[in-house]
Amino acid sequence: MTDPHAPWHSRARTFFTGDPTPMAEHGAVVVIGLGRFGASLARELTSLGVDVVGIDCDEAIVESLRDELPFVTRADATQDAALTQLGVPEASRVIIAIGSDLEASILAASRILRSGNDRVWAKAISEPHAEILAQLGVKQIVNPEDDMGRRLAHLIRGHMSDFLRIDSDYAIVRTTPPVRVLGQPLSALGLRGTHGVTVIAVKHPGAGWANTDGGTVLEADDEIIIAGAPDAVERFSALDKHV
Ligand code: ATP
Repeated sequence: MTDPHAPWHSRARTFFTGDPTPMAEHGAVVVIGLGRFGASLARELTSLGVDVVGIDCDEAIVESLRDELPFVTRADATQDAALTQLGVPEASRVIIAIGSDLEASILAASRILRSGNDRVWAKAISEPHAEILAQLGVKQIVNPEDDMGRRLAHLIRGHMSDFLRIDSDYAIVRTTPPVRVLGQPLSALGLRGTHGVTVIAVKHPGAGWANTDGGTVLEADDEIIIAGAPDAVERFSALDKHV
């Protein structure tokens, strides 16, 4: 339950629209740095019904987002006073989406962590940047350009229409079934043993996605979602495809 005396930004949006009942147990998500990445993240969270407080030190950026984000304000996130005043220490999540200004990213991270809020995510634009953030104690670090680059490399190599790397040793992929597995129930194919992959969902032409079971039979023109080690899903996706 949100404390009605808590700082304004840690209260749920419903509070501001006249309904003091909190929408979520915890307060708002703070997005610091509203460049392309931060603004897109803040918009998406807002569209999902999350209470977002957007912060940027550039007044022009703040003004340009006023119509799209309910709570957006100009502040320098490297200043303790500004962070405290905006209630960043109490926020349920803080995302530092400052990339090219390394000093600002690191200072903001260090001050927010020092304020006692360790629910911090940060964007890094290079390995050294990620390393420094990790050393400071930021547990969630994303490198959108690097992640997208890796993903694209898998897509460009062919045979997959989507690739999601869960960890260095596990990925989920959208692809089509190799000819050799068509027409037989999955339970008879033993794909985990022979290829190290699990077929987790299937989409027959004209139908929606459905979870598979041992009796699922794959047909030509199906799409499938498979999971496994990156090299295993890559190899399996390329089987029987000669283009
Ligand atoms: P993009 O997401 O557009 O690729 P980027 O990686 O180049 O951005 P920056 O331009 O460094 O990242 O920063 C993104 C935003 O962060 C900018 O709008 C900038 O004004 C804002 N910003 C930079 N320093 C601070 C700060 N100290 N406090 C608040 N906002 C800041």
